[in-house]
Amino acid sequence: MKVTSSEIVISAVKPDQYPDLDLPEIALAGRSNVGKSSFINKLLNRKNLARTSSKPGKTQTLNFYIINEIMHFVDVPGYGYAKVSKTEREAWGKMIETYFTKRRQLRAAVLLVDLRHAPSKDDVMMYEFLKHYDIPVMVVATKADKIPKGKWQKHMKVVRETLNKDPEDPMICFSSETGLGKEESWAVIRQYTGV
Ligand code: GDP
Repeated sequence: MKVTSSEIVISAVKPDQYPDLDLPEIALAGRSNVGKSSFINKLLNRKNLARTSSKPGKTQTLNFYIINEIMHFVDVPGYGYAKVSKTEREAWGKMIETYFTKRRQLRAAVLLVDLRHAPSKDDVMMYEFLKHYDIPVMVVATKADKIPKGKWQKHMKVVRETLNKDPEDPMICFSSETGLGKEESWAVIRQYTGV
């Protein structure tokens, strides 16, 4: 995919702030530090468009990016920070539940997990939540460059089995360092969005 333009449109917390355009949308979710911003930046050929904004105490927002004027990426704030208060966690839950259940333009979600480790309880919950609402999920296993190539398949199997992944959901081995999986990710996103 040739990306010729990408910019942030809005940071939203509630539906009346979502962009009012009828463009296909891909949501990106994962625990904090999994490499979600790096994934977005890599796909968009940008150095620093998406930033880690999910630190505790910071406002948790859905960040909408417009790409080539034809689709949106929605960066969902990361989960899994031990220090986040119960109130903040609940607000996060409400915000994402509203988004995932109400957003008509949503075509699929990208769930990012760390290839090095078995998915966490939160990762499994997120995957099950998306499946519960019949949202197609593409699983992206990040930081592949941090383990030897010979071990990728073994780690992919652990990811697949821990998530109890639906065979229909694609899974991609990814590295924002080497660019591994970038074109494959775009190919899947283009299928979902029809662009
Ligand atoms: P986010 O919190 O999910 O948005 O995670 P970031 O994209 O900010 O990445 C968290 C940390 O992991 C940063 O230090 C990144 O440089 C690093 N990182 C992210 N993706 C990769 C990757 O594919 N390979 C390696 N080696 N490091 C990565």
